[in-house]
Amino acid sequence: MSLGTLPRRSLLQGALVATAAAFNPIRRSWASSNEPGALDVPTFEGQLLLDAAVREQAADDFGHAVHRTPWAVLVPGSVDDIVKVIRFARLHQLKVSGARGIGESHSTQGQAQVEAGVLIDMSALSTIHEITGNSAWVDAGVRWIQLLQATVPVGLSPPVLTDYIDLSVGGTLSVGGIGGQAFRHGLQVDNVLELEVVTGRGERVNCSPFHRKPLFDAVRSGLGQFGIIVRAKLRLVPVPPLARTYTATYAQLSGLVADQRKLIEDGRFDYVEGSISLAGGVRTYQLEAVKYFRPEAPPSDAALLQGLSFQPGTVSVQDSTYFDFTNRLAPMVEQLKGLGVWQLPHPWLNVFVPGRSVTAYVEQVLNQTSEEELGQGPILLYPFHNRELTAPFLRVPADQHTFLLSLLRTAVPPTPENVEALLAKNRLFLKQLADIGGKAYPISSGPQTPAEWSEHFQPLWGLFQSSKWAFDPDLVLTPGQRIF
Ligand SMILES: Cc1cc2nc3c(=O)[nH]c(=O)nc-3n(C[C@H](O)[C@H](O)[C@H](O)COP(=O)(O)OP(=O)(O)OC[C@H]3O[C@@H](n4cnc5c(N)ncnc54)[C@H](O)[C@@H]3O)c2cc1C
Repeated sequence: MSLGTLPRRSLLQGALVATAAAFNPIRRSWASSNEPGALDVPTFEGQLLLDAAVREQAADDFGHAVHRTPWAVLVPGSVDDIVKVIRFARLHQLKVSGARGIGESHSTQGQAQVEAGVLIDMSALSTIHEITGNSAWVDAGVRWIQLLQATVPVGLSPPVLTDYIDLSVGGTLSVGGIGGQAFRHGLQVDNVLELEVVTGRGERVNCSPFHRKPLFDAVRSGLGQFGIIVRAKLRLVPVPPLARTYTATYAQLSGLVADQRKLIEDGRFDYVEGSISLAGGVRTYQLEAVKYFRPEAPPSDAALLQGLSFQPGTVSVQDSTYFDFTNRLAPMVEQLKGLGVWQLPHPWLNVFVPGRSVTAYVEQVLNQTSEEELGQGPILLYPFHNRELTAPFLRVPADQHTFLLSLLRTAVPPTPENVEALLAKNRLFLKQLADIGGKAYPISSGPQTPAEWSEHFQPLWGLFQSSKWAFDPDLVLTPGQRIF
């Protein structure tokens, strides 16, 4: 059995022996407490794991292309443990990063990984503390699926969900969190009411739009640079129990894009996405639109589809429960895991394309992309309104509408040469994107050097830097983003 398939509990039990008592700041390594010059490591309610197998597992993510081994993994027993590890790291110039779980980050370029430091397994703190009629207070290690399992039975849901909901609240709030509801509600970062954060200074503070707003604004889509999000108060909205999904195909990209624009303007659906297939060397474009409903008031298919320009005879309609709709990718993910595909490298590209240039840019990317390069992964394309966005560090093009374009590739064959060739393509597409004023969505390939990050955050790079000096002056947090 590989480490990746070991249940987490037995993984941790196996590692209990290898905990650190002291740290030698001269040798910069863990030590026994009687070693001359060694300093005591704080006492944690949880555990600081030094076991080589655990650290090796922590040096991986969904991309399976970047591997940075941490010096230790903290499985926190409390938020105070996170305060302690950050203060200790500040004192001894160690780095600290939060991640969804040990080796379970869904980043694809090592963004959650940390060398010369400590990785915090945020899944250890995953309690839903409170659900009210319009909000939920949750630990950052809670996964969206876990929250939905608690809220949907009482008719509530976060307004925006990622397509795949087994992601952590802290992880998606650190990047953005986009889904087909974003055109109406913005991203997940736009639907946060309050956050509890341990800053890079080791201070545990609450922030909201009304209290410590600069920190609240920095942390949302802040790529883990300013604080570890430990708790979040998330907006909830009432949701009907059922969802009807419509799909229809288009022969032309321009047709899909025009209808997507129309639908996010008139708001007749609750969710609008789309995808592009290159199967068999033929490009087809598919709209995916969803309407939520109550059983006593089913939607009118004719009214919802009126005036759209898809190819006749290509519409399909499917009803499901609201929860099954939100969790629709789970069966496919299980299948991919069973086939071993989940463990292959994923040189993904996710970019925000200005609405004014979307057709030309997407055609340009498709002209340079073969079906084989996708490794059967999908291409997604869907729009949202820039006016719904509130998190300054979520950088999108200056335009009325932005389209998310996602090349969700699996590298087949999974060789380093093929991965590098696909990453080189990503760099090319990012350059072509910059030429039209687009921005990377930095969950996958994106800026890699401080100079590229400076460009990415313009005109807010100065604010990004000054926020770093204010909240993490010793550059302790989240080195895997390669920003500082
Ligand atoms: C199959 C799949 C489907 C996806 N679908 C979508 C989608 O539909 N929409 C979308 O927007 N994204 C999607 N993503 C991307 C996903 O949002 C990012 O990978 C994101 O990083 C969340 O993943 P995670 O919870 O594993 O966080 P991680 O990858 O562990 O963390 C992401 C970043 O945040 C930092 N971080 C983690 N937790 C915290 C915390 N508590 N406080 C501060 N910093 C923290 C990490 O150090 C890292 O830099 C998908 C990814 C995969 C693999």
